[in-house]
Amino acid sequence: TIEYVRKPDWLKIKLNTNADYTGLKKMMNEKRLHTVCEEAKCPNIHECWAERKTATFMILGSICTRACRFCAVTTGLPTELDLEEPERIAESVEQMGLKHVVITAVARDDLKDGGAQIFADTIRAVRRRNPFCSIEVLPSDMNGKYDNLQMLMAAKPNILNHNIETVKGLTPRVRARATYERSLQFLQRAKKISPDTPTKSSIMIGLGETKEEIIETMDDLRAHEVDILTIGQYLQPTKKHLKVQKYWSPQEFRELKEIALSKGFSHCESGPLVRSSYHADEQVQAAGVS
Ligand code: SF4
Ligand code: SF4
Repeated sequence: TIEYVRKPDWLKIKLNTNADYTGLKKMMNEKRLHTVCEEAKCPNIHECWAERKTATFMILGSICTRACRFCAVTTGLPTELDLEEPERIAESVEQMGLKHVVITAVARDDLKDGGAQIFADTIRAVRRRNPFCSIEVLPSDMNGKYDNLQMLMAAKPNILNHNIETVKGLTPRVRARATYERSLQFLQRAKKISPDTPTKSSIMIGLGETKEEIIETMDDLRAHEVDILTIGQYLQPTKKHLKVQKYWSPQEFRELKEIALSKGFSHCESGPLVRSSYHADEQVQAAGVS
C-alpha cells in the first residue's frame, strides 16, 4: 500500500461557477432536489449544464442504506418517500432545457421494490414534459430482484446504466452489499427484458487494480452484453475513504479506451475526469437512440 500519492497536474482543475450555474443551484434548493453534479462537486458541471445540456439527478433522498468505501453519500436509514419528487424532477429538466438526463438514486434497501416504482414514475413524468430529452437511469442493483428491474424497464429508459465500479478482486473491499456477480446478472437481465435498450457500466480505477484485471472486467461486461463503458480515475472524497493507489495517466486511459472498443463496446469514454454520466449525450447518439 502506498501511503501517499501526489495528485498529478492533469487533475488540478478549477471549478467553473458562473451566474447561470448560481441560478440553477437556487432552483435545486427551492425544489428540494439533489444533483450528483453539485454534491460530488463534479469538475464538469459547467460543460454539462451549460453546453451539453445534461445533468444527473439523485432521487429517493440523500441518505443511503449502504456504505461503499469510495462514496461520500451519507449512510443511514432513510425515513421518507417523496411521491412528488418525479414531477419536480420533470419540471427542472424542462426549466434547464436538458437534452439528456441521468437519474440515479441512493440504494434504498429499506424499500421492498428498492425504489423501482419512483424510478419508473420519474421516467414517465420527465418524458411527459420533455418528449425530446433522452433518459438514462443509473440504479443500484435494487436488491437483485427481477420484479424490481422489470418495473423499472417497463417505463422504457433510453439507457440502463448500472455500475460495476471496480474489478472482481477488489469488489468486497470497495462496495457494500453489492457483489460483482449480481451486478453482471442485473445488466444481463435488463438486456433480456428489453433487448433494444442499450446497457452501460462504469469502472473507477486507481484503487490498486492491475491492467489485466481491468481487461478481465471488460470481458465480463461484454459477456453480459453491456454496450457502453466509462472508465475514470478514483479520487478519495475524504480521509476516511479508500486511498488512491495510483493515478493512471491520460495516455493509459487512451489505451484502455482502444482496448474497450476492440472488445466490442459501441462507445467508451475513458479519461481521468470521466464520470459515469460524462458525455452521456454522445453515447445516446452512438447507440442510435433519439
Ligand atoms: Fe453532472 Fe455527470 Fe456532468 Fe458531472 S459529468 S456535471 S455528475 S452530468
Ligand atoms: Fe454510495 Fe451508491 Fe454505495 Fe450508496 S450504494 S454508498 S450511494 S455508491
